[in-house]
Amino acid sequence: MSATRGATAATQPDATGHFGPYGGRFVPETLIHALDELEAEFARARGDAAFRAELDATLRDFAGRPTPLIEAHRYSEAAGCRVFLKREDLLHTGAHKINNTIGQCLLARRMGKPRVIAETGAGQHGVATAAAAARFGLACTVYIGSEDARRQHLNVQRIRLLGAEVREVNAGSRTLKDATSEALRDWVTRVRDTHYVLGSVLGPHPFPTMVREFHRVIGVEARGQFAAQAGGLPDLLVACVGGGSNSIGLFHAFLDAASVRKVGVEAGGLGIASGRHAARIPEHSVGVLHGTRTLVLQDARGMIRPTHSVSAGLDYPAIGPEHAWLADQGLAEYAHATDDEALEAFETLAKLEGILPALETAHALAWVLREGRALGRETRVIVNLSGRGDKDVEEVLRVRAKGARPASAAYDAARAPVL
Ligand SMILES: *Cc1c(COP(=O)(O)O)cnc(C)c1O
Repeated sequence: MSATRGATAATQPDATGHFGPYGGRFVPETLIHALDELEAEFARARGDAAFRAELDATLRDFAGRPTPLIEAHRYSEAAGCRVFLKREDLLHTGAHKINNTIGQCLLARRMGKPRVIAETGAGQHGVATAAAAARFGLACTVYIGSEDARRQHLNVQRIRLLGAEVREVNAGSRTLKDATSEALRDWVTRVRDTHYVLGSVLGPHPFPTMVREFHRVIGVEARGQFAAQAGGLPDLLVACVGGGSNSIGLFHAFLDAASVRKVGVEAGGLGIASGRHAARIPEHSVGVLHGTRTLVLQDARGMIRPTHSVSAGLDYPAIGPEHAWLADQGLAEYAHATDDEALEAFETLAKLEGILPALETAHALAWVLREGRALGRETRVIVNLSGRGDKDVEEVLRVRAKGARPASAAYDAARAPVL
């Protein structure tokens, strides 16, 4: 966290938390004081050597940092370019999320708040918050949509075993968007004793900046590891983008290096034309959701549209405001991969490298599998392996079984006349 290399004026929000036209604070009056308090405490903590020492020690001994960077030789062969994996999947609780929850739980303790709350989609942020809260002796409540609770049953049980309370949300599409709304409502009513551990680079200022800073360690480590192992800078960085925390964590330390392409991969779901996806960049529609102005999926009347992705962690209608700003300036590019492409990449990485990636991560891997030949054998790519796929085993089996039925029915129908 100590390296400041890569910070540029263009990527900082202004004093009111705006990234160009995006970001800011769109919240009820009752939260303004808490957000001011958080911003001030975060600034003080960053300048406090004792805080940084405890954060670094906890990241090392509790979470397992630094994570390795490894060259994936067999996957590279399949993709047609040189692929290096930043192993955030090896972190405690299975994803990059713990970098942020440790940081925010330490801040909650500094602010004298005995209770934290969180929203969760795939359950990973809920598990990471519950784990950090247990470590620091904080009470914890996690909001999850009831549809996600069904899809991510195992993570719901892990959160409970870690001593946190789980509240299922039955409103709306019963997914991450609805859990986030409910967590914000809780915060409004209990802001004096509660800190909201927001799980991505979303929400009102200072969350997008603060969460980015807690994940910036990913890119700082990767840059040093790449230089030591392979020499120089990579040609390309690739990461999946839900809210955008693992991707900004990797990209940010390379923003001063214009020669390094940065590609964020959104959830293409059943294809952009189908309307059933979670790709916010191609539509470029500006709106306000959960306290921030950014690119959102909405209809002509400004109603938030339902989203779809095979991965719960990418299934969210807004993208972090800093990504919207990076996209506008051409400082990062955004692409998408479909459910089917992600499933194929999931199986390919498993069989060729012995790693089950999270379905979210599989979208980044899918982009490399699709584009690798065009990039060429000498092109050196770092993929952020944001999480492990243990949580997704049941969902992959379920989707595969569902996909197999229509395919074999079509096959049988085609063969029927012959038989
Ligand atoms: C939550 C999650 C994501 C998506 O969130 P970002 O904020 O975009 O990083 C991606 N990968 C994994 C493994 C996750 O758990």
